[in-house]
Amino acid sequence: MTRRGKAAHQVLVVDDDRTIQRLTEAFLKPLDVDCEFAGCGAEAFTSLARRLPDLILLDHELPGESGLEILDRLKADPALAQIPVIYATGTEKETVISRCFEAGANDYIQKPIRRPELLARVQSVLERQRMMRELWSNARTDSLTGLPNRLLLQETLGRAIARANHDPRYHFALLFLDFDRFKTINDSLGHDIGDMLLQQIGERLRANLRSEDAIVRDSQLTTLSRLGGDEFVILLGDVPDEAAASSVAKRLLGVLNRPYTLAGNTVNSTASIGLVCSDNGYSTADEILRDADIAMYEAKARGRGCHVVFDQSMHAAVVERHRIENDLRDAVGTDQIHLVYQPIFSIEDGGVIGMEALARWHHRELGPIPPDRFIPVAEETGLIIKLGEQVLHEACAQFTQWRLQHQPLKYVSVNVSRAQLEVPGFAALVRQIVAQHDMAPDELQLEVTESMIMSRPEEAVTLLQELKALGVRLAMDDFGTGYSSLSCLHYFPFDVIKIDRSFVQELNGERTEFVALVHAIVNLAYNLGMDCVAEGIETHEQVAVLLAVDCLYGQGYLLGRPAAGGETCPDAWLANSPRANVPDIAGKLTA
Ligand code: C2E
Ligand code: CA
Ligand code: CA
Repeated sequence: MTRRGKAAHQVLVVDDDRTIQRLTEAFLKPLDVDCEFAGCGAEAFTSLARRLPDLILLDHELPGESGLEILDRLKADPALAQIPVIYATGTEKETVISRCFEAGANDYIQKPIRRPELLARVQSVLERQRMMRELWSNARTDSLTGLPNRLLLQETLGRAIARANHDPRYHFALLFLDFDRFKTINDSLGHDIGDMLLQQIGERLRANLRSEDAIVRDSQLTTLSRLGGDEFVILLGDVPDEAAASSVAKRLLGVLNRPYTLAGNTVNSTASIGLVCSDNGYSTADEILRDADIAMYEAKARGRGCHVVFDQSMHAAVVERHRIENDLRDAVGTDQIHLVYQPIFSIEDGGVIGMEALARWHHRELGPIPPDRFIPVAEETGLIIKLGEQVLHEACAQFTQWRLQHQPLKYVSVNVSRAQLEVPGFAALVRQIVAQHDMAPDELQLEVTESMIMSRPEEAVTLLQELKALGVRLAMDDFGTGYSSLSCLHYFPFDVIKIDRSFVQELNGERTEFVALVHAIVNLAYNLGMDCVAEGIETHEQVAVLLAVDCLYGQGYLLGRPAAGGETCPDAWLANSPRANVPDIAGKLTA
């Protein structure tokens, strides 16, 4: 017999005595509960399969299965074990009471049931249950966005994995989403704005993962959650295949790419998504989350704003990176890290004016590891601080060595990462190192890349000015690859602009637009009192073009490859004046 209303609580009364059923219902009236009745264990489980009550009142003596047997079955089923049980006993011995508590009953009541006692016990169990629910849901909700958090995601994911492992027709997908410029926005506009942004991202995702989604067959199992920071994870319930999941990912990327208005600021960014399908035979939530995270990093590495489907080969890359990270910790500060030097020339007469120090890592087992692979790791892990200090010391020591050999070098140039610049006291460290090696400050040049400066230009200006005040030379490295326009050059106290190799590569008689661009850079730099160094010169034709546009200094394999400081004496380079081999292309250029 079932009664359905809109009461606050549902109670299942398991008792074969009709009179007691009716009495219980009447007693519980003041508590706004709906009662459902079962006369035996079988009826109870049929009712439980239909709907889960907030409380079960379970009689000890029943036809067929006893109350204790039913209690054991309830507690063995994870879906039912959470429902509180009040156990009703007759005049049984103490042992029954202690057995029912052992079996997991929350409370007991002695028959004949008296109204005040029943009310008090049911009320207290329901109240406890309500508090537990609240705790449960607080522990599973992200307070900023109101979305499920990591814990709830892991639980839901665990159920989805179990289902996929049982039912070969069931496939789900996981999207791991990271907002590409969150840190920059959070740092530059403040945390309140950062929080607003996260809320808006959550809203957009929520609105675009409505239950009517045609691609997802079982939207019940779709969970949008925030893991923390700017990481959101979407579990797509029942998706037929990877293509369907990919189309959801693309749609979400489109939605997130639209501008955000945050307290009057308009912010643009993209997101990166890693996608994993359940078919890879996962057994834990952590495994699948890890792979989705790896695929998300791959999406970032492929230029951001896209989604990447996980595949096993990505593991190898992560393992390798891990090894590099670990081994780099041991290598920094030892002779596994050493420097090579590439000359910076006067293009006009072939004279070497400076040397750029470039870090090399000779791994004990893996052999040489190029800086493009270990410098980014050093930057991410903070090891660059220690490594950078080692580089500065060695480069200055080498410079002193060259001076003893009477080399006419003006300076040694050292690459510096943003993290180094930002360490409080970096300027003081530079001053101390220069003094320790008995150098004039302008015998040291620090190279900072354009993109490092442009990520936060105002702060960069302050940091650079502090260094400039010491008297060291400053060079803007890789110019043309960042976002600065020519017009911001004058904000920064640079002595030198290094024109990136990607421009220099294009310099030939045919590519007049590049020639014109480099010409404009050179002119502007000279007007601002800065020198220009062209990087990556590989052909004589490039030298000719550079001479034609008045770029006076250069670097590149044609002129000199990086080599160990002790081995290579700058005099050797002086001999092969680049001008001697320059083809005459002046006619072509003016044409
Ligand atoms: P970078 O500062 O732009 O250095 C120039 C890179 O271009 C060097 O690569 C150099 O060997 C290479 N190169 C020079 N001439 C030519 C050429 O004609 N053709 C070609 N194809 N390449 C040429 P390397 O040594 O592999 O260094 C790569 C990057 O690693 C450097 O780029 C720099 O950003 C970073 N790096 C190297 N050493 C350090 C360091 O001590 N500290 C920091 N923070 N970064 C470093
Ligand atoms: Ca450089
Ligand atoms: Ca460069």
